Amino acid sequence: MKTVLVTGGAGFIGSHLCERLLQEGHTVICLDNFFTGQKKNIAHLVGHPYFELVRHDVTQPYYAEVDEIYNLACPASPVHYQYNPIKTSKTSVMGAINMLGLAKRVRCKMLQASTSEVYGDPKIHPQVETYWGNVNPIGLRSCYDEGKRCAETLCMDYNRQNGVRVKIIRIFNTYGPRMFMHDGRVVSNFIVQALQDQDITVYGDGTQTRSFQYVDDLVEGMLRMMETEDSCVGPVNIGNPGEFTILELAEKVIGMTGSKSKIIHKPLPADDPVQRRPDIGLARRMLDWEPVIDLEEGLKKTIAYFEEELRQANVCKENNRGKDGR
Ligand code: NAD
Ligand code: UDP
Repeated sequence: MKTVLVTGGAGFIGSHLCERLLQEGHTVICLDNFFTGQKKNIAHLVGHPYFELVRHDVTQPYYAEVDEIYNLACPASPVHYQYNPIKTSKTSVMGAINMLGLAKRVRCKMLQASTSEVYGDPKIHPQVETYWGNVNPIGLRSCYDEGKRCAETLCMDYNRQNGVRVKIIRIFNTYGPRMFMHDGRVVSNFIVQALQDQDITVYGDGTQTRSFQYVDDLVEGMLRMMETEDSCVGPVNIGNPGEFTILELAEKVIGMTGSKSKIIHKPLPADDPVQRRPDIGLARRMLDWEPVIDLEEGLKKTIAYFEEELRQANVCKENNRGKDGR
């Protein structure tokens, strides 16, 4: 069995990946600086004999004898990555350099969690890996988009120059339990708003599209990518090709939660991509992979998660009120 390092392991996707790797019998080192990750995401893994938690920032070098690295450390929601954009660029670029340096030193494989954002506001639809993208290099999203593009460049150069075994996947919008309730992403926002009968905030006219992938499908794709031959470097799109407008998503969430929420419109953020859908032909051929969980089924599980989160938050509020005597 292998020793696997997961950077960003206490985050939404990272925590599911750590869980799955432990189920497969590997030793997992979960590294995180807890910027957007939460201890509660991995609390159930702490104490597992093959699980180690390390508080560390990927912008600083880290050394450990490992067989594989999954490099996920980076805030992923626009609200979070724009909070400290310089740090976001540093995390992507210096994080990649540090993890690729480690991979070179210990001769292990590294999978880079890249993103559909490398296509920017795409002029080719659906997005295929050979498309170079349409990215604003100086806008509010650039810290994330260009940081991730540079990380891909570094992966390719470490591969060509030093023979480091790298695997690049481009992840499309992913959702599921353990998304941070207030991280501003559309699926968590809409569900949390709907469950509380609050207004559903659609940015712009809601005709922009996204393709939503359930987290378990992504984790399966990640493991399959890591298992490919050394010559399979990618990049490979990992996403669900089902495409929905943001208005359709809002209506679906309202319907599934039986909410009394109304849809309201807010200004569209700068450089918000108009349409996004992955071409997953390469993943089908190379990994024999495709998503198996459709939006309805994935939303059901995610709604159940947020219902429980809100219930617990309300219990906490009630308890605090009790203490204050109010
Ligand atoms: P997340 O914010 O829940 O997780 C990111 C994790 O990285 C957090 O635990 C955070 O604390 C940690 N982190 C951030 N900066 C760090 C640093 N400097 N050092 C160490 N740890 C740091 O986000 P997520 O949705 O789980 O995304 C995980 C990865 O997948 C990211 O690299 C993201 O770019 C990529 N991705 C996600 C999506 C998506 O839809 N969720 C889409 C494309 C790509
Ligand atoms: N969005 C929205 N309301 C929200 C949050 C997001 O209409 O409360 C829109 C956002 O403008 C974008 C889409 O939903 O068009 C997806 O946003 P998200 O931040 O989840 O991901 P990304 O833009 O990075 O794909």
